[in-house]
Amino acid sequence: IDGIEVLTRVRTTRGPSELPVIMVTAKDSRDDIIAALKAGANDYVTKPIDFAVVLARTRTQLASKRAHEALARKIAEVEQLAADLHVASITDFLTKQFNRRHFMQVLQTEFARALRYQNVLSLIIIDIDHFKKINDTHGHLQGDRILADVAAIISANVRSHDVVARYGGEEFVIVLPQTDEPGAMVVAEKVRHHVAETAFAGMDGCPITISGGLVKFPGNDPSGSLTVDRLIHSADDALYRAKEGGRNRVEVARIAP
Ligand code: GH3
Ligand code: MG
Ligand code: MG
Repeated sequence: IDGIEVLTRVRTTRGPSELPVIMVTAKDSRDDIIAALKAGANDYVTKPIDFAVVLARTRTQLASKRAHEALARKIAEVEQLAADLHVASITDFLTKQFNRRHFMQVLQTEFARALRYQNVLSLIIIDIDHFKKINDTHGHLQGDRILADVAAIISANVRSHDVVARYGGEEFVIVLPQTDEPGAMVVAEKVRHHVAETAFAGMDGCPITISGGLVKFPGNDPSGSLTVDRLIHSADDALYRAKEGGRNRVEVARIAP
């Protein structure tokens, strides 16, 4: 096979910036030069070979290859940075769960999907009981550790398509797509039991409990005007009743007509 064929085959696996090729062409052969460049040659020299020219052109090609590689590395770095930034923008730093912003996006999407396909959707709001006292008694750092531990318990007790997020200070939310009220209650109770029965590190045996508010969509909503905001409000309202009722319990929302 001739030089052009060799180059054509090389170019099927290695591009001109990965493997620069300088073709040797017959003197003054215009067609040879065009064919070489078309086949993917980076440059050419004509016979008889002048090695000083080959050396100079080789240096140029290598400099260009290095610049290309440096650029490719920079692009990979920027892409990694963008991916890391995206993760950071949707993650709560302390608990490593999703943050409130991402939760709102997920809830909007799931709400629209449930509406469109007439699916059920449940939302649970969880709030750690007497958390202020935990901070006051054991210190803010210990409070932070408890937040991370409780988040891990919640996350470990939901299914893979449920979405856990930190809603605010010591409040968490779980979005449960395609889950009705009894199904969501099983999850909420599982989490509540787990937290209540865990001997948290650094708590000197003091138990920790959580309260929860649960709402499902489509709910008991005679006006049919349930929105994402009202869904959250209803769950919050149920949470408030759980607190009023003595804490360490989960209440189901009663949506006002
Ligand atoms: P309740 O049972 O009614 O929920 O009482 P509570 O004490 O848990 O509720 P309250 O809203 O009075 O207190 C919440 C506390 O959570 C107050 C705030 O300082 C604390 N907190 C919020 N965010 C953080 C955090 O990131 N780290 C720590 N350590 N504490 C936090
Ligand atoms: Mg709270
Ligand atoms: Mg609380």
